[in-house]
Amino acid sequence: MIIARVLGVRLRVNVLFFFLLVLYAVAGLLAEAVIMFAAVVLHELWHMIVALGHGFDIEEVELLPFGGVARLKGLIEVNPVAEFRTSLTGPLASMTIAVVAFGMFAALGRLGPYARLFVLSNLSIGLFNLMPVIPLDGWRMLRASLVGRIGFVAGGKTSTRISGAVLAVMSAAILVAVVLGLVSAVTLAVVVFLIVAARRERANGAYVLFRYLIRRESEILTDRIMAVQQLVATKDVTIREVLQFITPRRYHMIVVLDSDLETLGTIGEKQLLDSLLAGNGDVPLEYLL
Ligand SMILES: [Zn+2]
Repeated sequence: MIIARVLGVRLRVNVLFFFLLVLYAVAGLLAEAVIMFAAVVLHELWHMIVALGHGFDIEEVELLPFGGVARLKGLIEVNPVAEFRTSLTGPLASMTIAVVAFGMFAALGRLGPYARLFVLSNLSIGLFNLMPVIPLDGWRMLRASLVGRIGFVAGGKTSTRISGAVLAVMSAAILVAVVLGLVSAVTLAVVVFLIVAARRERANGAYVLFRYLIRRESEILTDRIMAVQQLVATKDVTIREVLQFITPRRYHMIVVLDSDLETLGTIGEKQLLDSLLAGNGDVPLEYLL
């Protein structure tokens, strides 16, 4: 559900999170709910600042019980360094806030139950998000560093496999703990949340486009004949920006213009994809001519 629009960014609260907050409020724990919500918003805010600093526009932010997902205009996946930094910032900020808040409240001698909850909420959001499981920050960091080393295709596959393995081990461990009565059955909600969130991630537009681009060359070779889609772009437009205009079953030719709208040259889609897969998604078109 969409709750607000701040500076053009859609702010969405996940239904599961919303019910959790309502449940807390109904149980007379409104202050607790507000504290948890604040910790999630603070976490997400830092992701947004770093993403904006790397030149990405944010389309939507969805707040989940353990953090959030910022959906960006443009593919941060094509810039592993920006993706790694943006992902790392959230957990780092949450844990820093926890430590600073703890120090502050302790120094003031006000380490009451609300202060403790604020510290614990930030700490647990920070630690939880470091897990290499889709769609958490830890997984994004893992993918970005693998992509930088072994390329997009292998990096994407390996990070997805690691995520699946970690989730399987974690689910089994939680299940055993529930059966043994070590933790309450509510803990299983974490597993459900992660499975649902992973599905959402796979349905997310940027993810779909990214997977599609990786398989793009084989599509051309299978179809063998395709209509041409002409695009016109100024020389400062980056590969990442052009990719948002890529449509299936069309081969794209990009006419590059200078600031006087004179034609500098034409770039074929293959050149774009090659640069993208080499990790140069942020290169302006003029460098490809
Ligand atoms: Zn995060």
